Parts: sequence; structure tokens; C-alpha cells
Amino acid sequence: MAHQDVVPIEPGTDQDWQHPPFSGAIADGHIWGRGAMDDKGALLAILEALELLLADGFEPERTLWLAFGADEEVGGENGAVKIATWLSEHDIPIAFALDEGLAVLHGITPGVSAPVAMVGLAEKGSMTIRLSAQEDGGHSSMPPRISAPGRLAKALTRLERNPMPASLDGIPAQMLVRLAPHMDFPLDLITANLWLTEALVIDQFSAAPSSNSMIRTTTAITMLQAGFKSNVLAQTAEATINFRLRPGDSGQDILDHVRRVIDDEAITIHGTDEEAQPASPISSTQSAAFSVLERSIAKSFPDALLAPGLVIAATDGRHFTKAADDVYRFSDAPSSR
Ligand SMILES: [Zn+2]
Repeated sequence: MAHQDVVPIEPGTDQDWQHPPFSGAIADGHIWGRGAMDDKGALLAILEALELLLADGFEPERTLWLAFGADEEVGGENGAVKIATWLSEHDIPIAFALDEGLAVLHGITPGVSAPVAMVGLAEKGSMTIRLSAQEDGGHSSMPPRISAPGRLAKALTRLERNPMPASLDGIPAQMLVRLAPHMDFPLDLITANLWLTEALVIDQFSAAPSSNSMIRTTTAITMLQAGFKSNVLAQTAEATINFRLRPGDSGQDILDHVRRVIDDEAITIHGTDEEAQPASPISSTQSAAFSVLERSIAKSFPDALLAPGLVIAATDGRHFTKAADDVYRFSDAPSSR
């Protein structure tokens, strides 16, 4: 799988690009442009590989399907969704789907000096809620003890200070178990004994945004709105919060957490469990398909270790979880080397 579309550039930033963003300029040994890595690299590598194999007279033992959507960046409804639906409707069994997501990464796991080929077994979900506070309006010369923005700010501070609970269960533990034997002392011992050291490891993971996002549903306050004039009290204040769900957490878990943490009946929570897009199912590392991937990656990257990972962004792969037995997310991006 790969997607053909790319995201736009911010209006007015054309001049900031070393090479025009949509030129595909080839210079200094690189292809320059928006989307060169996401996801034209994978798209062209797949086509190039197939053309070479076809020219060689290669005949695959199994059927290969190519799924190249053109709207991944806006949800995939008219691309990957339709392709996956079509495959299901025609009862075409898919052993596994391989999409973008993770790559060969350097220096991301403490204590591991070798590059690590991370294969995404699942991707996180997403849920957006709004919080609103309402107070009496009026002139700023006679403010109440607490204003709508003040009440909302208090709630937001509580939410940031009290993240959703973290856990190593599932993919993080699988990753650590695989990497532990390759870690330096004492990280190897700590990692090999998670039954004893889990709290310590969770603290470590929580310290950096990149690792924190692997072990918990994250909370991101993204938009704020209140007031319209410098000397008028805002009657309402509103915040938008985007959560990225780890496998196992539901929209209801988030709503319960928010209600409990905010602990303020005067704050209205706008959002329902149905609006949450949960994390994808977790693909197997015991399948024949995963062994094929392992062997191929070992051949291409002999120095790299291999570990399962969790994709924290969204890919078209999530639309294939019903059509395929397993969905893996891995492609090598040149920048990671
Ligand atoms: Zn992409």
C-alpha cells in the first residue's frame, strides 16, 4: 500500500522552500518536494520493484494487490476505504497488508546503539471533545470571583497535570522484550524484568513526548475561544481537546477520566463515546506474514534489530483491518538512514 496524495503547504510559504515544493526537483542526490517521503517514496519503490521483477520474468506464488489511495491525508474514504470494501465484497482473502507508518530508526531506544526496524502492529485512534464554561457577562470593572475563562483554564490545567493512565501492556512490552537482550547494562536487566520495574520504565517513557505517546492515550489542548472585547467579560469560554487513543482505551474511558479529573459540574463536556475513533486492532507477530517481513527486513538492513511498534499517527492501513488478516506498517524512509 501507499498513498498518492500529499498535504498542501502553508499559504505564503512558497519562498521558504529550498526547491519549489511541488517540483519534484532532483538535486544534490535527493528528490525535493512536499510528500517525497510521505508517501511518494514507498509508492515509487513498490512500482519500481514490480517493474524490475516483471522484466525478470518473476512469477509470484501468491497474488499481490496494489492499493494506492489518493486521499489518505483527508481520511481515505474515497481511496483505501473503497479498495478494502471492494476486496471484502468480492471475498478476496488478504493474508496481510503492508502500509507506511514506521521505519528503520536510529537512537530512539535508550541503551540500544543498533538501528531498529520498527514494524507498526497497530495505530492509535483519535477523539476530539470540547469543554465549555458559562458565567455572567458584564463590564470588566466589576469582575466576579471566577470568570468563564478562569474556570476553563483551571479545568485545562488539571487535565494536563493528570494524563490518562499509562501501561506497557501490549506493543510497548513486546518491543521491550525484543530489544532487552541488545541493551547495555543495566537497562537490559531493567527491561528484562518488567514485572518488577514497570513503574520505573513508565516514568522513563513518560519523560519524552515521543515515548510518552506510545504508552498512553495523549491529551492535547488544541483550540481556545473566549471573549471579544478587552473590557467586556466573556460569557462563555470554550476549549477543544484532541486525544489519541492507545489500544484498549475507549471514548467512554476518556469521558470518565475528563469528568473525574476536572471535577467541576459547571464545565460542560461536549462529546460522546460514539464520536471516538478507537485504536486499530493489534496485528500478530506469530503469523507467517510477519516472518516474511522479518526475513525481508533482515536482508535489506542486516545491521538493524527488529521490533514491533505502535504508529502514533493515522495511516490508510487502518481501513484494511477488516479486509486483511494482519496489517503491518513499515517502509524505509531515506531520511532515517
Ligand atoms: Zn502518509
